[in-house]
Amino acid sequence: MFIPPRRHEWFEGQGLWSDVPESSWKSWTWQLQNRLTRTEQLEKYLTLTPEERAGCLFANRKLALAVTPYFFNLIDPSDPDCPIRRQVVPQGGEMTVAPEEMLDPVGEDEHSPVPGIVHRYPDRVLFLVTDRCAAYCRYCTRSRLVSNAQDYNFHPEYEQGLRYIEEHPEVRDVLLSGGDPLLLSDRKLDHLLGRLRAIPHVEFIRIGSRIPVFLPQRITPALCEIFRRHGPIWMSIHVNHPRECTAELREACAQLSFAGVPLGNQSVLLKGVNDDLETMKALVHKLLMMRVRPYYLYQCDLITGSAHLRANVRTGLEIMKGLRGHTTGYAVPQFVIDAPGGGGKVPINPEYVVKLDEEEVHFRNYEGKLYRYPLASTPMPQEAVAETAPVECGCCCNGDKGDKLLP
Ligand code: SF4
Repeated sequence: MFIPPRRHEWFEGQGLWSDVPESSWKSWTWQLQNRLTRTEQLEKYLTLTPEERAGCLFANRKLALAVTPYFFNLIDPSDPDCPIRRQVVPQGGEMTVAPEEMLDPVGEDEHSPVPGIVHRYPDRVLFLVTDRCAAYCRYCTRSRLVSNAQDYNFHPEYEQGLRYIEEHPEVRDVLLSGGDPLLLSDRKLDHLLGRLRAIPHVEFIRIGSRIPVFLPQRITPALCEIFRRHGPIWMSIHVNHPRECTAELREACAQLSFAGVPLGNQSVLLKGVNDDLETMKALVHKLLMMRVRPYYLYQCDLITGSAHLRANVRTGLEIMKGLRGHTTGYAVPQFVIDAPGGGGKVPINPEYVVKLDEEEVHFRNYEGKLYRYPLASTPMPQEAVAETAPVECGCCCNGDKGDKLLP
């Protein structure tokens, strides 16, 4: 069997910053203080295309430009189409707004009862705790508020948000997001998680963060101890391309896992980044190798100025077809569209069900072969069941069901 050579490659080292002391490189505050935030800084290492230069000049009016040295190292400077570069280096396309695009594409603002809380689904809320990130993704759904380049003036009121959750017993699931919650200090995170954990009806706490990917140095023993103390805390990270799976990210994921944090990944399907099967397969395999379960593959939201990055939905469906059945089930994410205007996440699946009639479901397998399955079981005489029925276990025996008989 052919194994792509890059599967076992894990980028590591300080690259362009080899002269920096290792202790600085491994410090998350050093990484933040040394982010590349200006066009001239990018030009020191990259020859910007005219499209990129135009995008950089416009960036700070739409979404700030910032890249950590760690993540910048993953860019191939000789490739203007580098998939890492496309995610964080602005392009002129950000300045144009297609008719279908929106400032708030998934209708969060209209479902926000108090600043920072989005209550769209019955039993869960999104708690936006900051508008800052370690680096800025050029397709960010919340670019209206993240980095405050558009003067949204987002001011999360933690107490108001906590009170809202306390007063709504139907809320059993809280997702901390932003911006990136892991940019908060340990003290603030400890306080927030402690307060949430003390609310009796909050069963499930999760964090959405791209920090492990942009700034793995932030995953410190002290932070892991906070997660352990308030656990279980679930975390969705955001990796889009296999090149982002570095030795540092793998180590950060291991630390989080050992602290009892189950990890999932949310990728965004992006044109020229991961919109081909080979790249996506390499990504999901590397995620599993890092203890991360591929969770969602998002169709990119209709955020303003994102047309140059949005892949075709058909491509996403083809990728799903190429994954399902062709690789480990754990490696297959759910392809979803966050319904424009606030309809919530909707799974978009290749058509496996061909027909559903009164008696059977007719369906295709991953090879396109047709099968049928009865909708309901046919009742059998009780004595026949006792004599012949095999032990039915469809989950853990891998289909090896026939060798045990009931007494
Ligand atoms: S890390 Fe998340 S919130 Fe921050 S810019 Fe990227 S997508 Fe937006």
